Amino acid sequence: MPFPRNPRPEILTSLKDALPVPFWMDDSQRPTPEPALTGRISTDLLIIGAGFTGLWTALLAMEMDSSRHVVLIEAEETGIGASGRNGGFVSASLTHGFENGLKYWPDELAKLTRMGQENLEAIQAAIQHYNIECDFRRDGELMLATETYQVKELRRLPKIAAPYGEKLVWLNQEETRSLVNSPLYLGGLYSPNGAAMVNPAQLTWGLKKACLDLGVQIYEHTPALSLKKAGGAIVVRTPYGQVQASKVALATNAFPPLVKSLSCYIVPVYDYVLVTEPLTTSQWASIGWQGRQGLADSNNQFHYYRTTLDGRILWGGYDAVYHRNNAVGKHLEVDYEVFGRLAEHFFLTFPQLSGLRFTHSFGGAIDTCSRFSPFWGLHSAGRVSYVLGFTGLGVGASRFGALVMLDLLDGKSTDRTALKMVKTKPVPFPPEPFRSMVIDLTRKSLEQADDHQGRRNLWLRLLDGLGLGFDS
Ligand SMILES: Cc1cc2nc3c(=O)[nH]c(=O)nc-3n(C[C@H](O)[C@H](O)[C@H](O)COP(=O)(O)OP(=O)(O)OC[C@H]3O[C@@H](n4cnc5c(N)ncnc54)[C@H](O)[C@@H]3O)c2cc1C
Repeated sequence: MPFPRNPRPEILTSLKDALPVPFWMDDSQRPTPEPALTGRISTDLLIIGAGFTGLWTALLAMEMDSSRHVVLIEAEETGIGASGRNGGFVSASLTHGFENGLKYWPDELAKLTRMGQENLEAIQAAIQHYNIECDFRRDGELMLATETYQVKELRRLPKIAAPYGEKLVWLNQEETRSLVNSPLYLGGLYSPNGAAMVNPAQLTWGLKKACLDLGVQIYEHTPALSLKKAGGAIVVRTPYGQVQASKVALATNAFPPLVKSLSCYIVPVYDYVLVTEPLTTSQWASIGWQGRQGLADSNNQFHYYRTTLDGRILWGGYDAVYHRNNAVGKHLEVDYEVFGRLAEHFFLTFPQLSGLRFTHSFGGAIDTCSRFSPFWGLHSAGRVSYVLGFTGLGVGASRFGALVMLDLLDGKSTDRTALKMVKTKPVPFPPEPFRSMVIDLTRKSLEQADDHQGRRNLWLRLLDGLGLGFDS
């Protein structure tokens, strides 16, 4: 049975106390932002944006060469972008999942899988090394089949993925429901090594502290207003000052890029999340969910969900909303229609939890590109590098993205820079109004496919043929 578009009116009472605030940022540990930059400074490396990408870039740059002077500027505060408001799935995949990797880079997928696992291990090692408390758990993830055609598709994957070094285990209905009990589950594909779960905001704050301890200068409430090449350097203007930098790493994700030509490659897509109040012991027993695995269903419009340290369920996904002209802004972080739909889908999945309330409802922008995986490049005669296009799976991949940016800025040839994935760019999106029209048609087609046992219409098959898509 496909998930309905409209919630039953009685479901909406579960949302009446929900704060429109990102759950992870609503934390007494949230640090006071560093002061804004005033005056003119110069540096070896300037990083713009303090989400995971910017923070890993700063940390890795200092670890590689502690004599390097590194400055990080952030428009608002650390973690305020996608990094402090996501599901907290730290995926090992660098390619937005195994199947997407197989579609685009079959020849290098074994290497990418290994690099992704190494990246996840390195994230874990850094969390231990810098003593970051962020509820990092490696219980894996479980992809759920809620329709019969999905059972067929998922159960063939362990055999296909094994030669690439990807361990996947098919669980039948009974095995799946013994882990988490929903009347919708028909089976599940368990990936024991595929992902860790983290409190993402706490990870950003821990990385910020590690950066400060290593000597990175961080300025918050300091948006970069413009970026210009001036002689042998780059000058970045901010409201009360400017930075002259030998090299610049752009880590601004779905926000308007400072290098304007990049805006054709990404669309900001809003993804929304609900978080419940803490469950009682009997509520937990009613769904039998004892582990800390991350869960997701396998529709085109999918839900992802997980538990929190204080016993809540975070429930997000399904709608991926694009606003004309690549619009971003605080006003788009709340969408009551989407919240109502998410609540309905939550109680369809877990009818045992009827009466449970949501305490937080929020959204954030994802930097979707047409191949769903990051891309890199250099600009301004090699002095500026960028990584973009994580498309909803950047919590883990951002560290890898940061390493590649540093390789590129330092002019190093590495295993990473040799990858086809790193050397190529996604197909750009068309300009408006065609961009909105194409995205709208694709969204509607994906919705129809979910309603009709996954059958893809002519438009989706055309996009498949061209290697293009739209996802969150
Ligand atoms: C609701 C939601 C759920 C998600 N769930 C998951 C998940 O479970 N797993 C997963 O892997 N991924 C998930 N993602 C995606 C993931 O959060 C991102 O891919 C990742 O956080 C990207 O990190 P980033 O540092 O590149 O971007 P961001 O965290 O967005 O950081 C960019 C920063 O740049 C700053 N900035 C922008 N412009 C300027 C400027 N001009 N000057 C200075 N600063 C600027 C912004 O303020 C922001 O802090 C999710 C995203 C959302 C929105």
